[in-house]
Amino acid sequence: MNKLCIVVPCYNEEQALLYTNAELTGVVARLVKSEKIDKSSFILYVDDGSEDSTWNIIENFRKQSPLVFGLKLARNTGHQNALTAGLLTAMNYADMVISIDADLQDDVSVMVEMVDLYLQGNDIVYGVRKKRDTDTFFKKFTALGFYRLMQLMKIQIVYNHADYRLMSKRALMQFSLYKERNLFLRGIVPLIGYPSATVTYDRKSRVAGESKYSLGKMLSMAFEGITSFSIQPIRMITDLGLIIVLCSICAAVYAFYSFITGRVVAGWTSTILSIWFIGGVQLLSVGLIGTYVGKIYVEVKERPRYAIEVNDLAEIKHEES
Ligand code: UDP
Ligand code: MG
Repeated sequence: MNKLCIVVPCYNEEQALLYTNAELTGVVARLVKSEKIDKSSFILYVDDGSEDSTWNIIENFRKQSPLVFGLKLARNTGHQNALTAGLLTAMNYADMVISIDADLQDDVSVMVEMVDLYLQGNDIVYGVRKKRDTDTFFKKFTALGFYRLMQLMKIQIVYNHADYRLMSKRALMQFSLYKERNLFLRGIVPLIGYPSATVTYDRKSRVAGESKYSLGKMLSMAFEGITSFSIQPIRMITDLGLIIVLCSICAAVYAFYSFITGRVVAGWTSTILSIWFIGGVQLLSVGLIGTYVGKIYVEVKERPRYAIEVNDLAEIKHEES
């Protein structure tokens, strides 16, 4: 049947969860009422090792509503890993999964459209932000830079789509086959290739609490995205190397010509400059190659991405058997 699960990664979201839960349970109730989704549909909150009372709040929701389940990770593993934990767990209990952040920045009412598009045969439905009026200038600027950079690196991602999306069980099963540890869901999901659609909505500002993405986390996400999905930086370095080699050949010809015609060869300034320049280029290249070697190192270890401490859903299986 059409059993829906809404997966919500939460890290220190005690201030937002009350609002979020009210909205989400409302949407699920409406969808059930319109008979678009199964009665047994549910919400799965993934507590990503929060240090505040997030888990207690989730457990309270659970006591109050049969719709709510919790998944507690043993420690903070980051948004992408928490989301993956939720998706791969929910996959075993639902026919379709919608992932959404805990801060209500994404419009929950478009879930109805998402489900409609799923019912029409789409396996993946991307939530795409129409405008970013409520984002700070800084967020807009960094986001634009991010998408431009991705384009330059020839990485296929959906413009202005974050991790608000619907995925069918089939798409999730395919996603589970991607075994890499350096996770970047926005890059992986378009690679799955099942029928997809998009819905658009206006992005709001956070309902409560603060963004958990600092500049450092954002930069590391962009860097992850690029180095996990593209060897374009290596190509660019190669091109640069080629251009430099060609230029130095021309310079050598000129120097030789000057030598023959008896003119004085340029002084040490240019020599020193070129040594520094080549040294810089070499360091950069070595650093980049090192990045990829580092990734190979991490992937080869195949460490588990997360450890589940409590899984409320396990109870369902026990009850059934
Ligand atoms: N989040 C998480 N683990 C982390 C950081 C964030 O599970 O280490 C969750 C967070 O609770 C939220 C979502 O990921 O539900 C997106 O984070 P946030 O809203 O802070 O990011 P932004 O919208 O500012 O990019
Ligand atoms: Mg947010």
